[in-house]
Amino acid sequence: MYQYIMVRYGEIGTKGKNKKQFINRLHKNIKDTLKAVKEVRVINHYERIYIELNGVDHLIVYPYLEFIAGIASYSPVMFVEKDLEIAKEKALELVKSIDANTFKVDTRRADKSFEVASMEVNKIIASHILKNMEIKVDVHNPDVKLELEIRDEGIYIFSERIKGLGGFPLGMGGKALLMLSGGIDSPVAGFEVMRRGVEIEAIHFASPPYTSTLSDEKVYDIAKKLNIIQSNIKLHMVNFTKIQETIYDNVDESYAITLMRRMMFRIADKVAKKNNNLAIVSGESIGQVASQTLESMVVINEVTNYPIIRPLATKDKQEVITTAKKIDTYEISIRPFEDCCTIFTPRNPVTKPSLKKAQEYEAKFEFESLIDDAIENIKVIKINKDSDEDEIF
Ligand code: ATP
Ligand code: MG
Repeated sequence: MYQYIMVRYGEIGTKGKNKKQFINRLHKNIKDTLKAVKEVRVINHYERIYIELNGVDHLIVYPYLEFIAGIASYSPVMFVEKDLEIAKEKALELVKSIDANTFKVDTRRADKSFEVASMEVNKIIASHILKNMEIKVDVHNPDVKLELEIRDEGIYIFSERIKGLGGFPLGMGGKALLMLSGGIDSPVAGFEVMRRGVEIEAIHFASPPYTSTLSDEKVYDIAKKLNIIQSNIKLHMVNFTKIQETIYDNVDESYAITLMRRMMFRIADKVAKKNNNLAIVSGESIGQVASQTLESMVVINEVTNYPIIRPLATKDKQEVITTAKKIDTYEISIRPFEDCCTIFTPRNPVTKPSLKKAQEYEAKFEFESLIDDAIENIKVIKINKDSDEDEIF
């Protein structure tokens, strides 16, 4: 029944000078994602993007669109030439295919040279439908809102608007380094920045043998899930054991987490620099644990000048869980393997650390060389949507 899926942009439509660049990127991203459906063709009309279905059921295409950042909404559409006699029949066919008691017609005339005014088109279409089937008009709360868009190239007819992911096309916002733990929060934080058009690389700190390879696997599986939004993700695996042991040998237990975090951010800072990442992303949420009070954040942040993006800063856990389920990382995150932080968690972590004290503890050991060592030994894994055998080097 439908010839196209019409894709709308929302926010990027307001981007002035950059608009064309944004739309071209979105066009490319949709094309790349839809490579898997050979029959379809993705057409860039600038006002809109159209996916030409060429006989493919529109429902087959929907799952591919669900996680493309920058799509505000989309509709399966019928397309006819600018002839109201033909439009009338197609509109009737569409309403007949839906189980509905009431309807309303809403016409947009983008082509102002079209000789019939929108209100008049509404009337013509509605009366044809009323004449040919058992249905009533309800302008306030109709079961079916039948929309017509009259454009230069023809008339589009549709009755559904499906909400897209919103945000900006992936790749428009530069690249950031995501601190990815095995927990629930950090994949969601990654998802939120990707939705805003920022590509990610990920960094994970593991402390073998305290942390098992199963927890590495967990992080790998999570990153693989994030492939649904970004098809290639570089994952930096850092061996954090030596640093963690040194902290516990030298520092009062209450400051261990504060110092551990400072070391993580120092390493992330250097990795970000080396890889031209513009920001560091973390899954912290205000007040969630001792190391996530504002006082802690001040002390931890002090080691880097990078913007630290914390998309979950103000979110409640339940909201985060809802998103984690949507991106399908939740079930992986709740697998019961410890990560390096949970294993070393002290009984009484300080909630209001002082910077001076943190620096005094750090002066007790040679951390720069430990950090350099850790960076030198980073293992990079390229995680790719289309391959099961990811490249490890
Ligand atoms: P998550 O926050 O992912 O659910 P969590 O709540 O157990 O895991 P926290 O202790 O709250 O983790 O850590 C806060 C943030 O610090 C994480 O969201 C993540 O961005 C970062 N982080 C913690 N541990 C690690 C790790 N082992 N590797 C990389 N980043 C980490
Ligand atoms: Mg957390």
